[in-house]
Amino acid sequence: MSPQNLPGQPHLAYRNNELFLEEIRLSDLVREHGTPLFVYSKGAMLAALAAYQRGFAGRNVQICYAMKANSTLGVIQVFAQAGCGFDIVSGGEMDRVVTAGGKAAKTIFSGVGKTSAEMRRALHAGVSCFNVESEAELEVLSELALSMGMRAPVSIRVNPNVDPKTHPYISTGLKDSKFGVAHQRVVQTYQRAAKLAGIQVVGIDCHIGSQITQEEPYLDAVARMLDLVQAIEAAGVSIRHLDFGGGLGINYNDDRPPPADLLWKKLLALLDARGFGDRPLMIEPGRSLVGNAGVCLTEVLYLKPGEQKNFCIIDAAMNDLPRPAMYQAFHQIVPLTPGVEASGTWDVVGPVCESGDWIGHDRTLAVKQGDLLAVLSAGAYCMSMASNYNSRGRAAEILVDGTQADVIRQRETIMDQISKENLL
Ligand SMILES: *Cc1c(COP(=O)(O)O)cnc(C)c1O
Repeated sequence: MSPQNLPGQPHLAYRNNELFLEEIRLSDLVREHGTPLFVYSKGAMLAALAAYQRGFAGRNVQICYAMKANSTLGVIQVFAQAGCGFDIVSGGEMDRVVTAGGKAAKTIFSGVGKTSAEMRRALHAGVSCFNVESEAELEVLSELALSMGMRAPVSIRVNPNVDPKTHPYISTGLKDSKFGVAHQRVVQTYQRAAKLAGIQVVGIDCHIGSQITQEEPYLDAVARMLDLVQAIEAAGVSIRHLDFGGGLGINYNDDRPPPADLLWKKLLALLDARGFGDRPLMIEPGRSLVGNAGVCLTEVLYLKPGEQKNFCIIDAAMNDLPRPAMYQAFHQIVPLTPGVEASGTWDVVGPVCESGDWIGHDRTLAVKQGDLLAVLSAGAYCMSMASNYNSRGRAAEILVDGTQADVIRQRETIMDQISKENLL
């Protein structure tokens, strides 16, 4: 039987009715490491990165992996070794970049609420840019930099007020968003920044949202950014690099986001047409680099057929896979060894004591107790958002590279969980 690929998941395939990621049979990993278990394909991560690299071929670009999507050290290492920089949103992420061998000089520091301690740490490490989100933050950063005898390299995150047409919780570029500097205040914020002795203006940035599956929001945001650059430079402040953020979606459920290479060829044509083609560029992709590189393997604990609903209770839960509970997100769920015929329609749920603890609604599956399932597209915003709710230890993580499988995170033990607590 020839391998049978899953749609939109080129690194996953059934061979002789067993699910493989690259050259590894996933049930073998479960036997060795247990469930729930995250497994990532290094090849899928590098293929996703290559699509961006093709799109930007011949351009002066710094691709900064937005590591909040998946901040495990082994994943950071893959991107650092491939030449990526990083987009960080906390001092903890700064420490992870340094620990994994990433370069501070290729790191940009984003986020609406950086603390003084975090800014000092990033200045000391030598980050390439602070993506500043308010005038108040500019003042604090300038003072800190001066006190350290430095000037902080700064880009201002502008809010282009375009609708990314995605879930409201992951829309960030609309007028009423907490993110970025409002469109009509951008020029005066740049003028203020240019006057601050501890600030060196180096760029402009935006990031309009996440899981964007259409190209129009990007075209609108780029056009509006270029209008702003013209206005800022006409007001006497010059800008070097342009940073267009991240946000490109992936295929979860028959989603059809534009491929990164084709999208960027179009956006770069727009830059060229408006005379901005030779500016240094930055982008901050997160989800689109890792989302479809990962699966979460889980075991069916119990089947609980009911009058209204049939429940398939698995050993992964909302603490491992928080996206359905947080955003009503969809993940495909497939068996590691498909059965012959569907045993029914199931609500796939975890053991956590919350009705919000569901992973998939109304799924047609051939399952029985003890079967193994793979929750797909689990590489982004799963482990990095995982918690210990219900005192559940966080899952282990494996990185697959061809026939090799490395444990990049051990399963969390109860001692890991309680070691910072004190008995009365
Ligand atoms: C989260 C985030 C990103 C990455 O978003 P994705 O949708 O994962 O690509 C990029 N830039 C900033 C500022 C972010 O907050």
